[in-house]
Amino acid sequence: MTVPTEAREPSGIPRNPGRTDLGLKATLLFPSREIVEQYYVPLIYTACRTCYSELQPEEIFRRATEGEVEPAKMQRLISNVIESGHGSTIEHVVFTFGISGVSRTLSHQLVRHRAGVAFDQQSQRYVTFKKAATMLPQTIAEAPPDVRERYEDQVEGSMALYSELVGAGIPGEDARFVFPNATRTNLVMTTNLRALIHMSGLRLCTMAQWEIRRLFQQIRHEIFAVSPFLGSFLAPKCVPLGYCDEMNNRDGHCPIRPHKDQVLGAWAEKAKAARAAGRELPVA
Ligand SMILES: Cc1cc2nc3c(=O)[nH]c(=O)nc-3n(C[C@H](O)[C@H](O)[C@H](O)COP(=O)(O)OP(=O)(O)OC[C@H]3O[C@@H](n4cnc5c(N)ncnc54)[C@H](O)[C@@H]3O)c2cc1C
Repeated sequence: MTVPTEAREPSGIPRNPGRTDLGLKATLLFPSREIVEQYYVPLIYTACRTCYSELQPEEIFRRATEGEVEPAKMQRLISNVIESGHGSTIEHVVFTFGISGVSRTLSHQLVRHRAGVAFDQQSQRYVTFKKAATMLPQTIAEAPPDVRERYEDQVEGSMALYSELVGAGIPGEDARFVFPNATRTNLVMTTNLRALIHMSGLRLCTMAQWEIRRLFQQIRHEIFAVSPFLGSFLAPKCVPLGYCDEMNNRDGHCPIRPHKDQVLGAWAEKAKAARAAGRELPVA
């Protein structure tokens, strides 16, 4: 069998599996919609308002939770503060997700986030798997049959060897060395809102790997279900920035926002035209 060597596009938006069921799931375990509505927005508002008020935080919180402050007023202040980058105000609320059926390829990327986020992950030491589940990337599922077969044989071979090793008395913690990155896993992730916005900015970006992108699409969906207002802050990082800063998008193939090179180029042109007309624009 020969793996196709066809030249790949130098850059491009990684194929999105669209609505394909990847068998992975993000479920918001805590908080419920009622808790978010009653306490989360008031809590963030209290943190923001305390900065600008003579009132004590407990009084601000009481007024906010007892309906004495218009929800639209709370949202306006929170939006302004978030957009100004005063991120500590949104570290006071946390969200806990159950994440299941993701590949180890994904979990390795996910746990690279360090600030404001906690993880617990299914152990490959303490769980001795009867049949560990695996992920089949769509490109391989749609590849020529011999390519797909080769992949499946390899993965199934690893799983079979794992069982043989365990059967031969090798501890699970050592037998697991044969597991491929395709092996599925489960985690619990708790994150404050600031970290969640940051992670979503990176992982909803079209430069992110398809599986983790899908996970964060589900995470955004879960947050929207409890608060469309808070969910609206979960977006690719270029959306709040107004431009794309990814080097790999210098060719502008992702159209969500213009690349910063284009923005700076346009500004330089404008400055040149202004100078020719005898005016100086601020330096970009
Ligand atoms: C598209 C994409 C491709 C990637 N490719 C690679 C790759 O090829 N190889 C690779 O190794 N990784 C790669 N990564 C992972 C990436 O480098 C980060 O490790 C990961 O995204 C975690 O993000 P973060 O650094 O913002 O950390 P987080 O822990 O989410 O931190 C949030 C923010 O807190 C601050 N912060 C956190 N810790 C510190 C600290 N110790 N000191 C100072 N400030 C801190 C920073 O401002 C940071 O942005 C990739 C990520 C993406 C999204």
